[in-house]
Amino acid sequence: MYLRKRALERLAAERVLYQRRPGGDISLCVIYPNVYSLGMANLGFQAVFQSFESDSNVAADRAFLPDPDERESMRRRGEPLVSFERGRALSEFDILAFSVSFETDYLNLVSILRMAGIPLRHADREGHNWPLIIAGGSAIFLNPEPIADFVDLFLIGEGEEMIPEFLARYRESASADRGERLTALATVSGAYRPDYFHPVYKETGLDSVRYAGPDGPTVDRRMIKDLNRFSTSSLILAPESVFGDMYLVEASRGCQWGCRFCAAGFMYRPIRYRSTEKITEEAIRGLGERNVIGLVGAEMASVPGVADIAQAVADRGARLSPSSLKADCISPQLASALARNGNHSVTIAPEAGSERMRKVINKNLTEQQILDAAAMMIGEGVENLKLYFMIGLPEERNEDVLAIADLTGLILSRARESRQRIGRVTVSLNPFVPKPWTPFQWDPMEDVRSLKAKIAMLRARLARLGPVELDAESPREAYFQAMVSRGDRRVGAILQHLDARGCDGPGPIWRELARISADARDGSTMLPDPEIYVTRRFAEDEVLPWDFIDHHIDKWFLLSERKKAHYEHQTGPCDVTRCTVCGAC
Ligand code: SF4
Repeated sequence: MYLRKRALERLAAERVLYQRRPGGDISLCVIYPNVYSLGMANLGFQAVFQSFESDSNVAADRAFLPDPDERESMRRRGEPLVSFERGRALSEFDILAFSVSFETDYLNLVSILRMAGIPLRHADREGHNWPLIIAGGSAIFLNPEPIADFVDLFLIGEGEEMIPEFLARYRESASADRGERLTALATVSGAYRPDYFHPVYKETGLDSVRYAGPDGPTVDRRMIKDLNRFSTSSLILAPESVFGDMYLVEASRGCQWGCRFCAAGFMYRPIRYRSTEKITEEAIRGLGERNVIGLVGAEMASVPGVADIAQAVADRGARLSPSSLKADCISPQLASALARNGNHSVTIAPEAGSERMRKVINKNLTEQQILDAAAMMIGEGVENLKLYFMIGLPEERNEDVLAIADLTGLILSRARESRQRIGRVTVSLNPFVPKPWTPFQWDPMEDVRSLKAKIAMLRARLARLGPVELDAESPREAYFQAMVSRGDRRVGAILQHLDARGCDGPGPIWRELARISADARDGSTMLPDPEIYVTRRFAEDEVLPWDFIDHHIDKWFLLSERKKAHYEHQTGPCDVTRCTVCGAC
């Protein structure tokens, strides 16, 4: 009962910023496959929920992965998972719509279906009256295959136009049985019905995919051209959200810089910005609710008019908090506006410590530009700097890792020389995870032991610098991420196994994956070896699990970028007015 009490308390604390509809005949639950505090911080989840709810035929509800204590209580009492708002069993809805932003939440999707008492695999739901299970979101854009056996239909692309079309097709097929209805829904452009596709495996990767559907074996991902037609900003303010003190405004989708490891820079091509007027208007509206405006997007310093937006917010006594800034794009006007009104902390992302590695990853950023940006932010009064780096990148050497400490040391010594006050410097370190649709999609993740050794080496070097904190993501967590990022449909069996074993944290997941890998090597399990997805270099002519999606990016372009990385050659930023090189424009 206390679970319901917690949901009701959370509901009472929320502030809904749009007019909610009473709801229609179609019962639909939008599910964020992680806990409430993360789900309510996700603009995409909020936007999808409101899109479904704005249809007068739909009675929309929300659901989340229960908090750890809630899971334990449900398990002890044998209670099924219920929706957040109405407390209704998930198995009673017509449609369960998962909004998945991160591939590591694929395991939670399996757990949620199990906690709801719904047969996990779509083959086991056929011919019965179970809810239709659909999924979309940025993780699905990249590679839905690890959960293809659990989901009836994926919507691949941006939801703003797809959701109304999906609902229209759902209504039109009201008299059809489950199978016929799925056939009708699969005709929505961007829909992916996994049971039309039959993968054939080799020992390691895919041999081929047999297609048994009515159209072609390719799914054209859906994109909207003009972001200004839709507004994506906070719709429900939830104090418990991890960004509970902010009003969030989306500024752009994609990124013009083409860093070779970054999925957002390729999957959302071409880059689209919201207009300065639109962002400013939404930010000012948000100031009625919160004193901090979180600007959401891949890279915020190159958003047109961002300094004016920051200034407009600062002039009203509030502050703008951009997600990440490219050092050479930070203008003095932007630095000054960001530092006003008590902004004590800014994130800069050099990504790599050495000039050589920044060329490999196509960062287009010199050491001097990084030092200038840091000096400018510190000079304007920003006390704490967060520096974001990666390790284990393709072509990386030990000296490139140590260069992270050298660069951090230079930032500190420049600040001291010019008698600038600097508070805390945090080096945020993330192991490289190869992502589909990037030039590094073929490259392996570095072995966990070797990554740990690099982190220890860097920790020792940073310790000599004084007030520097190292915040390193666990290579074991990154291992799981790499497996689901580059996984094929066989990874679904691993996810099901992990859920059945109750592995719901990084430690238990890692230990079980290590056991599966050992068993797979000696032939005592039918599960695939996770190593074939994580530390294996994929062949360039290999069939990739996500090849059936058409992202409008030529594979040869990704291969040529990979080759340029090897020769430390950079590619300039996108110029959407005249370039057609990658195929997206
Ligand atoms: S065609 Fe050119 S400008 Fe357009 S997304 Fe590709 S690289 Fe960028």
